[in-house]
Amino acid sequence: MGETRDNDAYEEELLDYEEEEEKAPDSVTAKANGDAGKKGYVGIHSSGFRDFLLKPELLRAIVDSGFEHPSEVQHECIPQAILGMDVICQAKSGMGKTAVFVLSTLQQIEPTPGQVVALVLCHTRELAYQICHEFERFSTYLPDIKVAVFYGGVNIKVHKDLLKNECPHVVVGTPGRILALTRDKDLSLKNVRHFILDECDKMLESLDMRRDVQEIFKMTPHDKQVMMFSATLSKEIRPVCKKFMQDPMEIYVDDEAKLTLHGLVQHYIKLSELEKNRKLNDLLDALDFNQVVIFVKSVSRAAELNKLLMECNFPSICIHSGMSQEERLTRYKGFKEGHKRILVATDLVGRGIDIERVNIVINYDMPDSADTYLHRVGRAGRFGTKGLAITFVSSASDSDVLNQVQERFEVDIKELPEQIDTSTYMPS
Ligand code: ADP
Repeated sequence: MGETRDNDAYEEELLDYEEEEEKAPDSVTAKANGDAGKKGYVGIHSSGFRDFLLKPELLRAIVDSGFEHPSEVQHECIPQAILGMDVICQAKSGMGKTAVFVLSTLQQIEPTPGQVVALVLCHTRELAYQICHEFERFSTYLPDIKVAVFYGGVNIKVHKDLLKNECPHVVVGTPGRILALTRDKDLSLKNVRHFILDECDKMLESLDMRRDVQEIFKMTPHDKQVMMFSATLSKEIRPVCKKFMQDPMEIYVDDEAKLTLHGLVQHYIKLSELEKNRKLNDLLDALDFNQVVIFVKSVSRAAELNKLLMECNFPSICIHSGMSQEERLTRYKGFKEGHKRILVATDLVGRGIDIERVNIVINYDMPDSADTYLHRVGRAGRFGTKGLAITFVSSASDSDVLNQVQERFEVDIKELPEQIDTSTYMPS
């Protein structure tokens, strides 16, 4: 891994957490108890975005985006977040958490030239890119607000020049590069009024990343708004998150079972390791799909499987951390724009990544934990749409993870039937 990356050894070391194998703390018995959980997150509220009294420029961008009604999580969080309250929010994948912090940040900031007033940190470069894109989309009619994204694998000089010549008001980035830019005094965080962590459990569970986040946090003023988001927030990690906050508004689903994505049909297939390729081939031939993501457990397996699929004439690409940043992003964009229909990936894109057309996720290799399973399958069935998740089970430990998933999220995952009705997983 890493032979094609830039030569900033220190930074690469910091950035290398993306595919680390870490075990999420076992929170099988954890039941959240926030008061927001009385309602499910599936429902869409009848009141509109207009009720939030957002800037007209934001409302216009919301209309352009085709958002008709706020999702439940948006309804719960936005009114408080735009008042500057600290927010810690757990809501299931694809329910629009990004728009919560993007809209409430844009609502609150008054751009002052040369000052970074909002900082968003996340764990992968692709996610940083996607979040930056959301800020750009919603600030279309706020031309004075400048947004920039900084992550490793890009020549740091480019970032330094950008900060010097066109200092953004909103900065999105991964911790390694942000830290490097602040250490060299190119990026000043002393005017930051909004500090946001996306996929916060992932960022704070890994001690390396937590250390970086803390170091960055300490460079920001005491008086600021802190917001954190994830689809999974175990009882163990919540107090860690709250240490960064002052009396936050807490939005948790009250029961992990509610994290189950209801539009998503989930199945498993028992087979041996050797049967996986043949089965995958058959599935890709037999299933109807717009786009599919196939998850594997390592960089080398991603490259190999992708090669194999291409040899069989499937329109496939792969993304993993063993390729240059430029290559990674080009491929990610290509897939997002629909140029390829099959993406073979590691857990690098297991979280946060939002690709509308993905309606099937295949776990070619079983994820290492129930949390990872939930994040991965959440790539299909975004924003309540239909989708299908198929998981290959080839060992006793694979079965254990599958059982944990079923217990924790109270979902009954059945063996894949001979015939599966397309209408159950293809969006109409
Ligand atoms: P999460 O962060 O909760 O996993 P995202 O913020 O990535 O979810 O949102 C998932 C998808 O839903 C995105 O494509 C987003 O543009 C879309 N979306 C978000 N809010 C709304 C809304 N109110 N109406 C329609 N689509 C929405």
